[in-house]
Amino acid sequence: RAGRELEVAVVAPDLRHMMIVTHDVTERRRVDDMRRDFVANVSHELRTPLTVISGFLNMEVDAGKLPPEMLEHHRQLMLEQATRMRSLLDDLLLLSSLENKDESDDADAEVIAMPKLIEDVVREGKALSLGRHHITLEAEDISLIGDADEIRSAAMNLVSNAVRYTPEGGSIAVAWKRAGMGAALSVKDTGIGIEAKHIPRLTERFYRVDKGRSRDTGGTGLGLAIVKHVLRRNGGELLIESTPGKGSTFTMMFPESRIFSEDF
Ligand code: ADP
Repeated sequence: RAGRELEVAVVAPDLRHMMIVTHDVTERRRVDDMRRDFVANVSHELRTPLTVISGFLNMEVDAGKLPPEMLEHHRQLMLEQATRMRSLLDDLLLLSSLENKDESDDADAEVIAMPKLIEDVVREGKALSLGRHHITLEAEDISLIGDADEIRSAAMNLVSNAVRYTPEGGSIAVAWKRAGMGAALSVKDTGIGIEAKHIPRLTERFYRVDKGRSRDTGGTGLGLAIVKHVLRRNGGELLIESTPGKGSTFTMMFPESRIFSEDF
């Protein structure tokens, strides 16, 4: 069959009989390829900052005494690279712990006061934006049933992406509202937007539209993969709408079964 990969073995139990055994190994190959790509990506992402750090350290050892301003500048750059490695490792650990938890083993189910959680996330978003964006928040008094740490980290990823992919002077609107019988947390920005062809792949690990921009703004390429896993474990879904040059809206949708109602 087209596009499928078969492993063929010829088995001859005796001289007069012969069997041809085939196995469809398409899926196994796909998983192997993904694993190989992942290891290559992680290695590359860690190697770059390490190369920068060891480069500066070597320069200092070789050059002997350098002017203090230069040393200070090197230290600053090394610190940036160390921070980048740290964020990558933090995201990798979070992603692997989300993946390791059996998918059938639901996330912690606590009642989350969402307005408070979103307020905290928006406060952190403002700290990242440093006044460069107009950030607004609108939250209805709806509680969600789920794992608060996981939901907070997914929401934070969406807000930090909005900050990182929106040029100075742009707006970011965060809203938590009823949507149908359930509720939705949306993060809408007036940023650079995303071409339609990239949208289906954004939640893949290390998939980025523009690697340079992602790295320069402190991205690890794992944020939306984390969001996808969190939503899968907490009964939600991610909706992405975007227009290049105009902006994007990322929405986490939760069904009615995940909304806490006092009437029960
Ligand atoms: P990264 O650390 O690279 O931001 P993510 O997994 O969070 O990784 O996002 C994957 C890619 O999706 C980003 O590299 C970027 O190209 C695109 N993206 C995510 N959020 C936005 C946004 N709000 N506006 C434009 N592009 C975005």
